[in-house]
Amino acid sequence: AFGAAAVPQAPEDPLFGLMAAYRRDTDARKVDLGIGAYRDNNAKPWILPVVKRADDILRNDPDLNHEYLPIAGLAEFTTASQKLVLGGNSPAIQEKRVTSLQTISGTGAVHLGALFLAKFYNKGSDRLAYFSDPTWANHFQIFSNVGLPYKTYPYFSHKTKGLDFDGMVSTIQDAPEGSIILLHACAHNPTGVDPTQDQWKKIAEVIRAKKHFPFFDTAYQGFASGDLARDGWAIRYFIEQGFELCIAQSYAKNFGLYGERAGCFHFVTSPSSDAESTVKRVASQLAILQRSEISNPPAYGARIASTVLNDPKLFAEWEANLREMSGRIKEMRTALRSKLEELGTPGTWNHITDQIGMFSFTGLTEQQVLKIREDAHVYMTKNGRISMAGLNTNNVEYFAKAVDKVVR
Ligand code: PMP
Repeated sequence: AFGAAAVPQAPEDPLFGLMAAYRRDTDARKVDLGIGAYRDNNAKPWILPVVKRADDILRNDPDLNHEYLPIAGLAEFTTASQKLVLGGNSPAIQEKRVTSLQTISGTGAVHLGALFLAKFYNKGSDRLAYFSDPTWANHFQIFSNVGLPYKTYPYFSHKTKGLDFDGMVSTIQDAPEGSIILLHACAHNPTGVDPTQDQWKKIAEVIRAKKHFPFFDTAYQGFASGDLARDGWAIRYFIEQGFELCIAQSYAKNFGLYGERAGCFHFVTSPSSDAESTVKRVASQLAILQRSEISNPPAYGARIASTVLNDPKLFAEWEANLREMSGRIKEMRTALRSKLEELGTPGTWNHITDQIGMFSFTGLTEQQVLKIREDAHVYMTKNGRISMAGLNTNNVEYFAKAVDKVVR
């Protein structure tokens, strides 16, 4: 017998638990700064106008059906995804050194990459992955599910509320040769702190010297600066430097396609005379893994993204939508910082505007976070992270006052 009675209770997912607690709260003043999903100035989910347009096009397409996609997903989507993340003129694309599979959003892409590495990377030797401390909590679960052990490298300095660059570089330097180094391409979750371009160059140098394998997670391209190329800079730099690497790409945030689960996994090999054949073999193995796990990916979200990515006019409209989202978030950063400074709230608040992307690491302690939830009905994760998109012109002052009260 299975003995299911012996299965222990698992803890609730902290983030989805927080969402549920927010929904149960009946206080009219409640503020949701928990989950990383864009909200408009009325705290409502925002369907990007360009997504609506693509949706209309698809709904009126008489040739659309519900057949299976190929194992690797929609080809127009994966090809456009390569261009988006690597740049249209990428030598890696021209030299056929990239293979890409559509995945169950970014989570599925991280998983497929981790599974592939668990199966094929440096077989027979000790493998170790390194994540930033802190990182997106799911990285830990995904890598442990595929049996890849991990450690962390320092990332966030609690003193400066910025990057602990020296700690990061020296830990990567000291990591066993050939470690897997997971990097957030831009708009680091949860801290909102990214390396500068010069710092990225140094990181690349250390990774090369130690023959590590870079694994990029890109879930916020276009969300950090509002500029797709700028947000893709780190990945493109690593490719230019000739690294073999992989990329997990999500369209949840930058298209607002959260529940449609559109994402892509890319494997890029280094320039060499047999790069094309290497990539073919990698692709064949990835296809088998994908087939055993999800058979083939879901169609609808990828169709929406593909419709936009492959049409220059829609693409330009998407870029404008991205600037609107990232612009509103930037305004909220400025507003929050100036409210706190106006109130004379103890501490420094420049990190709120220095940090970028969807999140801010406020520096509030777990105790303060719980108090703010109790007193002011403001919901944020225990590590003091806030989703900037939950702030708007109606609640930013209320939130600043709640912070002020709890830090005094
Ligand atoms: N990586 C990071 C760093 C993230 O923040 C997220 C979204 N929270 C993801 C991956 C993947 O999310 P999704 O599966 O919804 O695309």
